[in-house]
Amino acid sequence: MATDYDAPRNTNDESSDDSIEELKGRRDDKAGSTIDVDTEAVEGIELPGADLSGEELTVRVVPIQQDEFTCMTCFLVHHRTQLAGEDKNGQPICVDCAS
Ligand SMILES: [Zn+2]
Repeated sequence: MATDYDAPRNTNDESSDDSIEELKGRRDDKAGSTIDVDTEAVEGIELPGADLSGEELTVRVVPIQQDEFTCMTCFLVHHRTQLAGEDKNGQPICVDCAS
């Protein structure tokens, strides 16, 4: 087996010019397609990994304080001093929405 492997190898070296050029042309095509695939794969991995985890850590969910309320019209959290009253359903409404 080892002898058979060496024999064709030496034969190729003698006429290496033509075969190498053919291989280069084929390799260039394969290399181009391979680079595109790798770039897409890397971008796909980075987006869900680093960015989302960073935002989750940065953006804190602050619970509503006892002196605050959520206006059911604009859905914004206001201080009680901005509470204008309640609507027909008993939902708090801020001064901006009541006026
Ligand atoms: Zn409001």
